[in-house]
Amino acid sequence: MAERRLLVLGTHNKKKGIELRELLGPYGFDLRTLADFSEAIEVEETGETFAENALLKATVQAKHLGCWVLGEDSGLAVDALDGAPGVYSARFSGPEATDESNNQLLLEHLADMPLEQRGAHYTCHVVLSDPMGNVRAEWEECCRGRILFGYHGTGGFGYDPLFEIPEYHMTFGQLGYRVKAVLSHRSRAMRAIIPRLITLAAEAWTGELAESAKK
Ligand code: IMP
Repeated sequence: MAERRLLVLGTHNKKKGIELRELLGPYGFDLRTLADFSEAIEVEETGETFAENALLKATVQAKHLGCWVLGEDSGLAVDALDGAPGVYSARFSGPEATDESNNQLLLEHLADMPLEQRGAHYTCHVVLSDPMGNVRAEWEECCRGRILFGYHGTGGFGYDPLFEIPEYHMTFGQLGYRVKAVLSHRSRAMRAIIPRLITLAAEAWTGELAESAKK
């Protein structure tokens, strides 16, 4: 049987981890998340862009664990809020933020906005790092939608119950995993990077690289 290559998904967000596992599951990797590594570190997201944060999450964790790590940073940018919450999406309503408190704050900020001014997009930036902290692949994708006036559906996570895909007249909270796996910023970014991931796994994912990382 072919050897399964270890790939660590560099996230502490359980629901993101589930989405990433579903997207990469068919490609034969031995997929783990940071929850599988007691020695994993909490990488500080000090970047001002999704690209900078994804780079930190992938390379710092990869060097620390001595593994190939796929780092990902994502968030919501609302046109009427000049791109906020952006890289602060997870912490929009403060250090103790929850999905619920973030969604409430977003609804308050947009309370007076008519539907045509509620445009927004999700962005996802992915970075693949080898065990030495070298970037071997990266990609960024977006998904356009708009923020509704209240909650619709219970699927997904984060801002999904408010985020409508206009062509479907439904939010990601209503559309469910299968549709989100086709349309979302995360699935688009993953689909773009998967061919490179497979080539690298076949060519470079050798004991040699992993060994030199440990030295
Ligand atoms: P990160 O873990 O620092 O990348 O923060 C991502 C945050 O952006 C999440 O906590 C959500 O608030 C938001 N976000 C990113 N992707 C999604 C998505 O697919 N659905 C809903 N919210 C998302």
